[in-house]
Amino acid sequence: MSDTPRYRAIAGRELPHHPRLLHLPAPTRLAMAAVAEVLPFRVNEYVIDTLIDWERVPEDPIFQLVFPQPEMLSPEQRAPIEQALTLGASSDALAQLVQQTRAQLNPHPAGQLSHNVPNLESRRLDGIQHKYRETVLFFPRQGQTCHAYCSYCFRWPQFVGDADLRFASDEVEALVAYVRSRPDVTSVLITGGDPMIMKTSLLARYIEPLLEVPHLATIRIGTKALAFWPYRFTHDVDADQLLRLFERVGAAQKSLALMAHSSHPRELETQAAQAAIARIRSTGAVIRTQAPLIRRVNDDPTIWADKWRLEVQLGMVPYYMFVERDTGPRGYFEVPLAKAVQIYQEATRQVSGLARTARGPSMSATPGKVVVDGVAEIGGKRVFVLRFLQARRPDWVGRPFFAEYDPKATWLDQLRPAFGAPEHFYERELGQLLSAGGGFSEPILRRRALQLMGEVA
Ligand SMILES: *Cc1c(COP(=O)(O)O)cnc(C)c1O
Repeated sequence: MSDTPRYRAIAGRELPHHPRLLHLPAPTRLAMAAVAEVLPFRVNEYVIDTLIDWERVPEDPIFQLVFPQPEMLSPEQRAPIEQALTLGASSDALAQLVQQTRAQLNPHPAGQLSHNVPNLESRRLDGIQHKYRETVLFFPRQGQTCHAYCSYCFRWPQFVGDADLRFASDEVEALVAYVRSRPDVTSVLITGGDPMIMKTSLLARYIEPLLEVPHLATIRIGTKALAFWPYRFTHDVDADQLLRLFERVGAAQKSLALMAHSSHPRELETQAAQAAIARIRSTGAVIRTQAPLIRRVNDDPTIWADKWRLEVQLGMVPYYMFVERDTGPRGYFEVPLAKAVQIYQEATRQVSGLARTARGPSMSATPGKVVVDGVAEIGGKRVFVLRFLQARRPDWVGRPFFAEYDPKATWLDQLRPAFGAPEHFYERELGQLLSAGGGFSEPILRRRALQLMGEVA
């Protein structure tokens, strides 16, 4: 790349013609193009030239991470789309096929569209998700895209529609009004998409009003930019301004945490990434790292041990290992819980205590974040030992519970209560909470939101 790297997205229909892919067989490229019609696809030259080892394609983990793979859809799902592409079907016909296929992929797991949407004076606050008492998630409207897309993304449906990217000043007013109204909220997590896709001036318009809220302690920004476009922090025209913004958060006696989506140690090995990390840390911001455990990308204890070790060496704090969610091409990427907990344990055993700060494997499921602590034998029965790290009801947190061991189970809803119990301890209360509107609240993907709030703020 040239001295001043400039971001350019490579997306959609460019895929089958990209020079790097031309050596792949034509049917493979057609199949990839069909998958890219259904699931989000976007990459850039940094990822292509720096992160992917093209000698190892298609097995290369970063190639698997960003490029659509034929097996992400079943042959039955793919064939009609391939045919439509080959025969040049009308865009209406193609769109209809694509829509039908997406609907088969559980686009909104964990009750994301209905539960968890907060009310302020009984108006729904779209763009805000409040599921756990202390933490509010905020989805700024212009932050709902990324520098490249992960092929397993659980928020994939929001990247395949038409986004409305105008700044909504009433949106941030709504957020601030909501957080002010909730003294229990100590942390706002700005997420997406990737908020780092936004210009600094725009991000500042979201962050600065939050600095005035006394009970707010931390502002977090969820991002994959360290991996997919580290130049955001070093070379982009407003990179310096961004670092000044981070410093202002500290000056206001709040802590800024960059929640870096970090899938594989290779993402952190580049000079560009390490320069970005050093600059971010120089502002006083903390970088915490998290990622899902993904088959073909990082389903190996050595990868996690190497990743956590390098993160600690570079001054970052490992935070979560997630279980891949029950959406999208999950069959392609999922790792059984039994294997996930084994990978977690073998990885933590290889690193010093400083690198054991990541909790996991954790499922972000409808009732809360459930970690698999291990497999135990109790009274001659093998069971999974489970625990809430976060919950819709704070008093569920920390209480161990047990499920029958099942080597194939990949998600909480497949786990049966152990010892003949009729249901898990939280299920009755969860049913009541959800029928009453979800307790705190959950998400919202780009939406015409906060016309509402203009009125109440
Ligand atoms: C993980 C998560 C959070 C953050 O939880 P912490 O334990 O504070 O890191 C907040 N909201 C939702 C919906 C989450 O999944």
